[in-house]
Amino acid sequence: MKKHLLFLSTLFFSLSAYANTLTIYAYATEDLIRPIFEQYTQQTGVKINYVIDKGPVLIERLKAEGENSPADILMVVDAGNLWLATQSDLLAPLKSKVIEKNIPAYLRDSQNRWIGISQRARTIFYNPEKVNAEELQSYEDLADSKWKKRVCLRTSNNVYNQSLVASFIESKGSKKTESILKGWITNLAAPVFSSDTLLLQAIDAGQCDIGIANTYYYGRLLANNPNFKAKIFWPDQKKQGVHINVRGAGVTTHSKNKELAQKFLEWSTEPLAQKLLAEMNFEFPIHKDAELHPIVSGFGKFKSDSMPLYKTGENQRAAVQLMDRVGYK
Ligand code: FE
Repeated sequence: MKKHLLFLSTLFFSLSAYANTLTIYAYATEDLIRPIFEQYTQQTGVKINYVIDKGPVLIERLKAEGENSPADILMVVDAGNLWLATQSDLLAPLKSKVIEKNIPAYLRDSQNRWIGISQRARTIFYNPEKVNAEELQSYEDLADSKWKKRVCLRTSNNVYNQSLVASFIESKGSKKTESILKGWITNLAAPVFSSDTLLLQAIDAGQCDIGIANTYYYGRLLANNPNFKAKIFWPDQKKQGVHINVRGAGVTTHSKNKELAQKFLEWSTEPLAQKLLAEMNFEFPIHKDAELHPIVSGFGKFKSDSMPLYKTGENQRAAVQLMDRVGYK
């Protein structure tokens, strides 16, 4: 009898622990994301296990694990990576009034297999000693011959540029996009950079006058050096708006805990979590009532491109082919 009770209570304990634990596969800086998970545990009692790695690595891992994956949630950056996950049926569609209220449709997959949980802008940066902001308007201006030997770009094998070009294909068409890319390449001041940070430092140092990078890298550099020279510019304000992308998350297809996982995602779209998720990396919250980090609010207001982000996923392959064709390294 005692033995049975022991067995039953062990079973009950392990089941309830199981039902009250989430496993998240995330791309993030561990020291920054851990306190956010801890905050969730404190508020809800739900324990969070996590695995930290790069997006494409986590996606491969989910594929290899299949039905046996312990993961309930995938959290990675860039719509290109999120799209890749949906292509292998790794993410489950979900319905949630909370999410649909807090996150505009253009920052979610059409079936909510992933949702944006913070946003970053890929915009233009310039050296104010070499460039007057009034000379600037759009991404496509950087293809103009007046910028010859003045432009810096990051490598084309990076998903951020692939998504940017994919968004051009959607809004401007392939032909126009091709001629923009050709112009950019012709105007390069230096070989393409392997990171946005190196590119921004090159603008600061005067090696290039102008370039394209994600806003949070600029936030990090400003936090370390308030006198950092490069300035931010918001292009296409009278047209399409600034290209934005997301850190996003979705419930995995093989999660045994889908309801609990959805609750976590809902929490992540509310103002407090939105503030925490955005400020850990100088990103923008998506919920309109969430507070901005002071450095990020210093970037100023801008109009962002409201084209559905999943389109950039659909055009990802075409973008890579186009960049290859024009010799964008
Ligand atoms: Fe990044």
